[in-house]
Amino acid sequence: MNNFFKYLLVAIISSIVTFLIINQYAPLLIEVPEKDQKIFPIDFKKDVNPKELKQVDVKARNIILLIGDGMGPTHISVYRNVQGGPNHKLSFDKFDFSGYVKTHAYNSLVTDSAASATAFSSGIKTINRYVGVDHNNKPTKNITEMLFEKGFVNTIISTSEITHATPAAFASHVSSRYEKEEIAEHIYNSKNHIVLGGGTDYFLPIEEGGIREDGIDFVKKIKKNFHYLETKKDIDNFNYIDRKRIFGLFAEDDLERTEFEPNLLEMLDFSIRESKRMIADGCKGFFIMAEGSKIDWASHDNDYEYYLKEMQEFEKTVEKALNYAQENNDTLVIVTADHETGGLLIEQDDARYRDTGKMKISWNTAIGRGTHTGIMIPVFAQGPGAENFSGVMDNTDLFFAMKEALGIDNLEDYQCK
Ligand SMILES: [Zn+2]
Repeated sequence: MNNFFKYLLVAIISSIVTFLIINQYAPLLIEVPEKDQKIFPIDFKKDVNPKELKQVDVKARNIILLIGDGMGPTHISVYRNVQGGPNHKLSFDKFDFSGYVKTHAYNSLVTDSAASATAFSSGIKTINRYVGVDHNNKPTKNITEMLFEKGFVNTIISTSEITHATPAAFASHVSSRYEKEEIAEHIYNSKNHIVLGGGTDYFLPIEEGGIREDGIDFVKKIKKNFHYLETKKDIDNFNYIDRKRIFGLFAEDDLERTEFEPNLLEMLDFSIRESKRMIADGCKGFFIMAEGSKIDWASHDNDYEYYLKEMQEFEKTVEKALNYAQENNDTLVIVTADHETGGLLIEQDDARYRDTGKMKISWNTAIGRGTHTGIMIPVFAQGPGAENFSGVMDNTDLFFAMKEALGIDNLEDYQCK
């Protein structure tokens, strides 16, 4: 009898232990029933059907392009509800024009930031990881290179390291977004007058505390040839004295927004101010690409609080840019994302649809390991040429709609440096 109870006790304990172990790893063991999923081949051979653009008669002089990396439509909806309920009006809700953007890469339904940013910067579909090169790895001219020849002041801004895929597509041509040392060199030599973000590591050799293996000290070169800003204070105290390029690298990697680092809004403010000084000094117009990089990172992490913090900063920046477009009728503001990250979902929090006054949100790409999705993402536009950012667009269409807004093809070549 004693033995029976011993066996029973062992059986109960091992059942509990097994249950706990299985439960801990349960998410990995869940399999979606076959009837609930379908995997099928996709035809990538058809060419993109370019959107028929309306002719823009009164051209834009400036463009501010804001990219919320990974910011899908649900990212905006959740943020709206958190800020003040479904009837609350966000800056996104105040634009005159809006539409949807298809984001697929050359041969993949789900894009990465590199291929999508290359579509925006150069008007071509390319392979994931490729930056500023087509699917044959051939460099393609990007919009900052085109505008430089027409006397424009170009700026790239990022809250991650500036060598990250999105800004890189406006400044470099490499077959891998992970070639960050090469991207840093391309950025140094690029046609961007103002460069603001993190990432000193990629500009410094190992012996100076960076990661460059070629021994080249680009920070030293920047200090010698251009203006170098290291802190938020440097931004506040900067006085325009000459036409030298401006590099602001505020962290080794991404920006944590410590008291010493500027945020996205401050970097946008600074670049508008300095671009206008360059225009007063003879340049023709400005182009600013500013990326809220870490909405994507927070969504990869499935981290709700982190995502909210990043959205808040991005939305404030959108508000500022929209106000600028409304006050200056020569500026086109475009707000979009490169893809959605995390499969963010809003559901009724009660399965029986009882009104609880609550919202349930969840991340739905590979439980606990967020990734990109292939859904369409929103675009918002205000200012001259904004009408072309409407309906359903391909991500490559954004490039051509920006060109039409500025009328690049009919502008005279002009030197501004
Ligand atoms: Zn991205």
